[in-house]
Formats: sequence, structure tokens, C-alpha cells
Amino acid sequence: MTLAELLPSLGAVEPLTGQCWPRGTHLGPDADLVVDGTGLVGLAARFGTPCHVLSEGHARAAARDFRRALPRAEVLFAGKSAPIRAVYSWMADEGLSLDVCSAGEVEVGRAAGVPGARMVLHGNAKTDDDLKAAVAHGVRRVVVDSASELPALAALCPAGQEVLIRVIPEVDAHTHAAITTGVRGQKFGVPAEDLPAVAAAIARHPNLTLVGLHCHIGSQVTRVAAYETAVRRMVHLLPGPLRDLDLGGGFAAPYHPGEPTFDVQGFATRVQIALQQECAARRLPQPTLLVEPGRSIVANAGITLYRVVSVKPGFAAVDGGMSDNPRPSLYGARYAPRLLGRTTRAHRTPTTVVGRHCESGDIIAENAPLPADLHPGDLLAVPATGAYHTALASNYNMVCRPPVISVHNGHATPRIRRESLSDLMARDLG
Ligand SMILES: *Cc1c(COP(=O)(O)O)cnc(C)c1O
Repeated sequence: MTLAELLPSLGAVEPLTGQCWPRGTHLGPDADLVVDGTGLVGLAARFGTPCHVLSEGHARAAARDFRRALPRAEVLFAGKSAPIRAVYSWMADEGLSLDVCSAGEVEVGRAAGVPGARMVLHGNAKTDDDLKAAVAHGVRRVVVDSASELPALAALCPAGQEVLIRVIPEVDAHTHAAITTGVRGQKFGVPAEDLPAVAAAIARHPNLTLVGLHCHIGSQVTRVAAYETAVRRMVHLLPGPLRDLDLGGGFAAPYHPGEPTFDVQGFATRVQIALQQECAARRLPQPTLLVEPGRSIVANAGITLYRVVSVKPGFAAVDGGMSDNPRPSLYGARYAPRLLGRTTRAHRTPTTVVGRHCESGDIIAENAPLPADLHPGDLLAVPATGAYHTALASNYNMVCRPPVISVHNGHATPRIRRESLSDLMARDLG
């Protein structure tokens, strides 16, 4: 423990609060943060900024939480949240299956050694290339989003292809409109009243076998009750005994110090009780539950490191932004950055941390309490950037995407290298 940590009244080093940092993160010497055994200041020096850091220990532990809470369920990692080979193989190691939605994600899974028998393919517009990649890898289950995709599916899939139907459960998870997927008027799934017709259409294709229903009510869902409602509705909609009931993902992750982590155990208890009650009431055998967590496993495993490039009253601009994290522009997301690597007695002042890109919506944090003496060269750490960051990154302003460095038990391993200008120019044919 450092002197500053013992004497927070000095005001030199902000204590670590909240659950948005990777598990086990603690203060290190000289206002460093030690994540899974590795100091972040050293990582920034070694790998440059911006830089995504991912705690393997946190991601594995969060995966184990789901396995422990739901020992009889199949837990699938939502591959779109962090399409990184190492992450997929940690998840497979922890006994999770993989949910994919494109030929690209099938390929990352294949490269990570995930067998097709452990994969589920999603998507509201699966292209022939997606289906061919899935079939070539033997992806066991395909989730049907509409009857219109059945001819293509039947033409490309082998005999005995297992399918689930994605149903709109009409559960409003009360999350951001862009990530609300359980209600009418959004693009995913089949309305409940169309379910019998889609099931009948599947039955007309001899090589497709209906094995279950699927729903996904949204993302960053904080209320366990929304899932309980969903499971009751879904059992009600089962056309008869089916093997699988997939409840999707969407479990919330804390992005700010005051926010709680999702109650996985409470979810497991309440959903399993609801499943048992509804199945008993309908005299149906209980299907196997499937869940598809993405964000709740990897969001808090990740931290992004930035350098401050310029400051003006009330603002600090860093060397990354919407190219490595478009969530602020997409959903109005805001983060809680922290100064790293130097102590200061300067008072905290509300500072809006912005990115380097040519859009005024390129905002990482609004009025974050940061030291008034923040200056170019300072290092900022932004927690909760492990999900949908690398996955959603772009090259806006011809900015190269950052590397992903995993840390575990004091070892740092580059998993995705920093993009170079030659990577970008190689696609421009002149
Ligand atoms: C995005 C998605 C998930 C994962 O959502 P998280 O919020 O990352 O848990 C799971 N299932 C489906 C079908 C999805 O589209």
C-alpha cells in the first residue's frame, strides 16, 4: 500500500471506487493502477496510446460466474462483443459456447479452436457467405429470424440442421432505443402470432429441424424482472416440447463507479423458478436454458489508455476517441476517466474529455472530476471498455485502430497489433 493510499486526506491519489475496473485492480506506486498484476503506466510506455487493455483474469472469472449460477444451462459467449481470438479461446476454456453472427465471427471462432458443435449462428440478414462459412464449420444451430430466409437456409444446410426461431417476446427492457430488441417495431425476430406459420414452414424443409425458441430483449438490461417476464412469455409460446430455450444476453455492466454489476445469481434463481412453474402449468418438459452474455463478461475486463494531447478551460482532448469507441456517438454513452501515473494536489474540476475526431459528438466523458492541472502528455485510463469497443472501432479520419493487450498474472500479451498506415493504404487502389 502506498503512502498516498494510506493517507487519502492528502488528496494526492484518488481512491479506487466502484465495480467498473477489472477484478483485483489496485493502486500501484506513483498513482499507477495494477490490473491483473500489471501496471498500466508501463503498458502505455511499452505499447503506446491509445491502447486497449484486457484482463484475462476478469473475463474468465465473469464467465465462471455464469457457469456456476447456471450449471445445467448452456452459456454462449456473444462473440460480437469482443471478436478476438484469445477471448474466444478463454471462453471455450471456461466451458462456454459461442454465439456468432457472420462468416467473420465464425472464422475467429474456428481460428480459436471452437468446434462448430459449440456455435450458434444469429443474424437478421445472413448472407450466403455467412451460411456457407457456418455450414463448412459444422455450426450446429442456426437462429431463424424470418420465414424468408428458409429457402436459402434449406438450400445450403446439411440434413439434420438444427434451427431455433427468434421470437419477439414483447418485453420492454427499458434500455436505449438502439439496443432495445424485445418489442415490436424493431427489426429482429418473428411476432408471436406468426410463430406457428414459421414453425410450419420449417417443417416443410426436410433437412431443417426445429429444436427451440430464442429471444433477446436488449442490451445493458439492469432488471432481472425483465428476463423473468421473458421466460414466462417464451414458455407460453412454445409450440410443444422443444429442447432449447435461448434467452439471449443483454445483462448490464457498470460503466460508472456508482453502478452495480448485474445480479447473475439472482437472475439464475428467478429465471429457473419461472421456467419450472410455467412448464409445470403447461405440462411441458423443461427445455435446456441457453444464455448469451457478452457485455457482462468482457466490458469490465477492458480499459483504454489515452494521452492528453491538448487542454483548454473545461476540456481535455486525447489521442483517440470515436474511432476506438463509438458508443458515445451511438448511444450517448459516457465514461469515467482517471488520471494515471502522477500525483497532484490540484483541485478537481469538471472536465469534458473529448476525442481527436472531427465531430462534436466525439465525447468520452462529460464534466469528469479531473485535476485542474491536467496537461498534454498526461495519461488517462478509461474503465469498462472491453465490450463493443474493438468490435465497433473504425478508421474515421484515417486514424489507425489501437492494439489489444491482454494482461494476466503479471504478464502482458499483445493480442491485436496496432493498425498501421500501410494497413489502411493497402486497400486504397488509387
Ligand atoms: C448482442 C447480442 C447478445 C449479447 O448482448 P450483450 O448485451 O453483449 O450481453 C446476445 N444475443 C444476441 C442475439 C445478440 O444480438
